[in-house]
Amino acid sequence: MSGLQQQFDIARQWLDEAERVLLASGAGLSAAAGIDYGDKRWFAENFTPMLQYGVSTCAEILGGMGLPPLLQWGYLSHQLELVRFGAIDHPVYRLQHEALAERDYFIFTSNVDALYERHGFDPNRIYTPQGDYARMQCVSPCSEATWYTRKYLERIRERTDPATWQLQDESRLPRCPICSGPMYMNVRAAHWFLETPYLPQRQRLIKWLDAAADRNLLTIEIGAGFNTPGVIRWPAEQLTSRHADARMIRVNPEDSEIPGSLRERSMSLDCSGQEFVAAVFTQ
Ligand SMILES: [Zn+2]
Repeated sequence: MSGLQQQFDIARQWLDEAERVLLASGAGLSAAAGIDYGDKRWFAENFTPMLQYGVSTCAEILGGMGLPPLLQWGYLSHQLELVRFGAIDHPVYRLQHEALAERDYFIFTSNVDALYERHGFDPNRIYTPQGDYARMQCVSPCSEATWYTRKYLERIRERTDPATWQLQDESRLPRCPICSGPMYMNVRAAHWFLETPYLPQRQRLIKWLDAAADRNLLTIEIGAGFNTPGVIRWPAEQLTSRHADARMIRVNPEDSEIPGSLRERSMSLDCSGQEFVAAVFTQ
């Protein structure tokens, strides 16, 4: 039996023994579900008009940053529709849902594509500290208000040239309904990010963690590397340190090391999120 196979067996056992499961996930898990910002083929298939501008991955123009506004919003009107609102049913999320739906779980994810919610997980058990593409905000910001993104995208797509993805009508650029200033998605892209909509989720997670501190907690961290380690990776380690009986499984093909103080009750698997989910979340 390979080392990895043995680790999968132990992980399955830990999952069985856990009374509460915290799923902590990063970009690696969305990539496993096909939303891979570094994938050139996926980009060429889904964002073909952008190739003429010399762009070959979503990562190069993250959030449309650096593009002129009319092209930026023409692009975003297609990109967000696909990654946030499009129909998606992927085994990497479906298997997690099947294994955990009836259990005491919470989800803590840096992903802003709502893939957990879109696969049936309870939104009251999800905390998304980096925001959500489904909301828009003023970038001043002149208030704490947020607005539903999709209606802006539809208005933009109606007037976007399908061959160039250039928005043809400047009046359709998203404008703050209060101050008329520019808007952007309500995600932690810069200092103006409004956290307010996510504070109730955060409170629920803190309560959930405190409510039964003595009950076996298993944190499963998938695909959270060192791009923004302060968001998921370090908090996952801190939670495990704080709860004496907690265990942690870290799944990361590149950055799988674990701090020495946690080694006795942690396990690190250098495989992909997809491999891990397929091996451990199926009984
Ligand atoms: Zn405003």
